[in-house]
Amino acid sequence: MEKLGLVRDIDLALHIPLRYEDETRITPISDLRDGDTAQVEGVVSDCQILFRPRRQLVVKLDDGSDELFLRFLNFYPNHQKTLAAGKRVRVRGEARGGFFGLEMVHPSFKGVDAETPLATALTPVYPTSATLPQAYLRKAVASGLHRADLAELIPPELLPRGSWNLRDSLRFLHHPTPDVSLGELEDKTHPAWQRLKFEELLAQQLSQLQAKNERALQRAPRFTVRTGGLQEKLLAALPFSLTAAQRRVVEEIALDLQREVPMHRLLQGDVGSGKTVVAALAAAIAMNEGWQCALMAPTEILAEQHFRKLVQWLEPLGIQTAWLTGSRKGKKRAEMLVRVASGEAALVVGTHAVIQSEVQFAKLGLAIIDEQHRFGVAQRLALRDKLEQQSLEPHLLMMSATPIPRTLAMTLFADLDVSTIDELPPGRTPIVTKVFSDNKREGVIRTIAAEVAQGKQVYWVCPLIEESEKLDLQNATATHEQLSAALPGHSVGLLHGRMNATDKAAVMAQFTAGQMQVLVSTTVIEVGVDVPNASLMVIEHAERFGLSQLHQLRGRVGRGSVASVCVLLYTSPLSDTGKSRLKAMAESNDGFEISRRDLEIRGPGEFLGARQSGAPLLRFADLTLDERLVHVARQAASQLLASEPRVADQHVARWLGSKAEFLKA
Ligand code: ADP
Ligand code: MG
Repeated sequence: MEKLGLVRDIDLALHIPLRYEDETRITPISDLRDGDTAQVEGVVSDCQILFRPRRQLVVKLDDGSDELFLRFLNFYPNHQKTLAAGKRVRVRGEARGGFFGLEMVHPSFKGVDAETPLATALTPVYPTSATLPQAYLRKAVASGLHRADLAELIPPELLPRGSWNLRDSLRFLHHPTPDVSLGELEDKTHPAWQRLKFEELLAQQLSQLQAKNERALQRAPRFTVRTGGLQEKLLAALPFSLTAAQRRVVEEIALDLQREVPMHRLLQGDVGSGKTVVAALAAAIAMNEGWQCALMAPTEILAEQHFRKLVQWLEPLGIQTAWLTGSRKGKKRAEMLVRVASGEAALVVGTHAVIQSEVQFAKLGLAIIDEQHRFGVAQRLALRDKLEQQSLEPHLLMMSATPIPRTLAMTLFADLDVSTIDELPPGRTPIVTKVFSDNKREGVIRTIAAEVAQGKQVYWVCPLIEESEKLDLQNATATHEQLSAALPGHSVGLLHGRMNATDKAAVMAQFTAGQMQVLVSTTVIEVGVDVPNASLMVIEHAERFGLSQLHQLRGRVGRGSVASVCVLLYTSPLSDTGKSRLKAMAESNDGFEISRRDLEIRGPGEFLGARQSGAPLLRFADLTLDERLVHVARQAASQLLASEPRVADQHVARWLGSKAEFLKA
């Protein structure tokens, strides 16, 4: 029960059935059709064990209208006793046309007499685990529902119009009356469902608002943007000028940094829109005042790319940097830690190793998380704890190339300010995306040969097969061999998840320097890698990737002025959804549009990487379907928090229990 999260009475009351069984009526056997699931009642006219084709118990049931066979391949003495000839039984199962005529295999059954009453409500079937019997869970839920405090907490004027009360809604969802429309229960449009979803969304909005209010009480260092300061020097030293969108978001961030409330901002911008330089400019503001800045990326390769770029931009201006990752160990790591702790290193770049407990900052003023959706919720919580160790909170800037659709931004990230770079740097040629079946592979390889002959570079991405790292490697290795053979005189590299960090970095460095023409890789290059001379990207088994992931990958090309192509190879047969997904990729280069479609197809849980946390964020409401309820809940949350903060607390505790912390991360 604990594993299912069923600890408190209220948890049990909120454990809603997966589906229902109708035991409120008896169907005459003569009305049964092949495929019907139904309850019948009759008298056993025959019960015997047959041995052919295998040992089984065959029971003949007669209800006066017709006969039905019941077959049990596994049975116990109890079966024979209850199902003996002459006994009256009530049986529930799926009717199928069998060898003897209409039959039910392994139906549920119980002995009855003519007076045994029928159920008055539908029978709930609960989500459960293999070791927890349904009957036990039913009893536990029924008593939890009976004991739970379901008093109305929400003032009626804040509820959506025509709302049911909570107690009635829950009682109904556990034991619906047989006249209910099963359709309304299934699509969760029934008023009882609406109330439940509203409650959940309200709890979630409240916890976000509470987090925001808590943050407003914290103090962060207040920076000043100075003329002639580091930020201006960096701007002057850049080989390009900022786009209008970049200038706008830098301005938004700079305003936050000049306030004493910690910044909590998400910077979103499509792949290649130039977020790194914005991060560098934000860092420059903090560092100019003698504060440290930490930049974290989800993978070592990405962290290293950032590091190189930032070093190249900032070291000439006199900034000391440090590089921290999980693979950097021993003496070098110890040295780095000392430089971070003393404050000598103003800029610290790395993977999540940066947030490990032994890393102590002298004066952390700004933390930047790149590709924030790739960090698990647990990691974000660890970061928050770490940041709570100093008296002044650092400012927090999160960056993401996966644009968050509007409803999501309003709900799961309600306490986040958002800046958007909605423009690509000038001079980019749009990427052309082509979709081919894998049997066009030879032709694609010829295109690669033509491309490298012109001095261009090529990525070839193989999917990561989660269940089997070994298979994943085989696939990438085989492709690597095939391409090496097909491109004599050119260097073809291989990059995969099982290589150690040093080897990965070496391969990446060769490709970046242009000494390697083709890079075969598993998805380790997924985010952030920047090699402007790469003009062709081939993605094998493209049907196995999420749309946003494909968009991220595709964004690795088209980073310079050369016209770029992305080839999506799929393996036949491809399902209809599979086809329309790849078609969507070919039709759109817009990350927002793609992300919207991705959300439709996959749902927000996976979209957000919430699976990593093990705690599904919303159990009942659906952000795409329940947009209207989201709006009502949002308004109700701010009113309730302002007028009755204690009630708000009670509501959050009732709904979220220990999950509240997760939602604030
Ligand atoms: P992303 O937003 O995907 O992280 P990057 O920050 O890696 O994008 O930037 C992509 C490329 O564009 C980099 O090579 C970067 O130096 C370059 N770049 C960024 N801003 C501009 C600009 N305003 N003009 C020209 N090139 C730019
Ligand atoms: Mg980036």
